Amino acid sequence: MSFFSVKDLRASTDGQEILQGINLDIEEGKTVVVMGPNGSGKSTLSNVLAGHPDYQATGSAILAGKELLNMSPDERAREGLFLAFQYPVEIPGVKVLNFLWTVYTQKYPDRSKRKYVSIVEFRDFLFEKATELDIAKKLLDRGLNEGFSGGEKKRLEILQMAVLEPKLAILDETDSGLDIDAIRIVARGVAALKKQLNMTVIVITHYQRILQYLTYDEVLIVSSGRVVKTGGPELVAELEKTGYGQIRS
Ligand code: ADP
Ligand code: MG
Repeated sequence: MSFFSVKDLRASTDGQEILQGINLDIEEGKTVVVMGPNGSGKSTLSNVLAGHPDYQATGSAILAGKELLNMSPDERAREGLFLAFQYPVEIPGVKVLNFLWTVYTQKYPDRSKRKYVSIVEFRDFLFEKATELDIAKKLLDRGLNEGFSGGEKKRLEILQMAVLEPKLAILDETDSGLDIDAIRIVARGVAALKKQLNMTVIVITHYQRILQYLTYDEVLIVSSGRVVKTGGPELVAELEKTGYGQIRS
């Protein structure tokens, strides 16, 4: 079985079926791109995989041999799933540094397993990563996403990913609302983590802009809650020419 395997995933909310049987298989360390028109179910797919309580899901989603669908969102995160949100939440009053330290200590409850034993050491690591991601250090002392620009929020998601070191990262339109420089920085941050961790990645995107900075192995097109086409990177170029109009929905 593949490292991450989704079989006949269906999800409904308010009695309406949004995902109508998604199948997806990814080998470890590979990157799959999911594209599709607005409203096709891309965010629903990532939310359902992360365990969002709004949806009733059936089917299966097995990560490294473990079924995610009957786990709580917390347990899924502990199993190595990370979702970078399309719209990251603000938590005013909770400092970024303290938030990320909490995330880190929860990931490694056993102190002897921690690479950074104190928040001071951890902060040094964060500063280094923040520099790589072009995040101003003073942002780490502000409330989580409080008054952050779109680009700052997305970069912070990647910083959070660097702290969590997930096995599987799902990026839900991380590129939306970003200018081209921010897209490049975010994409390079993801690529660096992918290399460092042999991380498996699902990139959900509406546009091909972010894809020029990432290498990827397979492309899936979703429409009306189903995978309607799969192919290699050449599919992106094809879509660029023809648009989604040619894709059966
Ligand atoms: P995409 O991310 O591809 O643009 P979404 O997954 O956000 O699409 O949405 C797919 C469809 O499901 C849309 O028609 C949307 O309105 C509907 N949908 C998603 N989540 C909910 C929800 N919580 N309640 C009602 N409808 C929803
Ligand atoms: Mg979406």
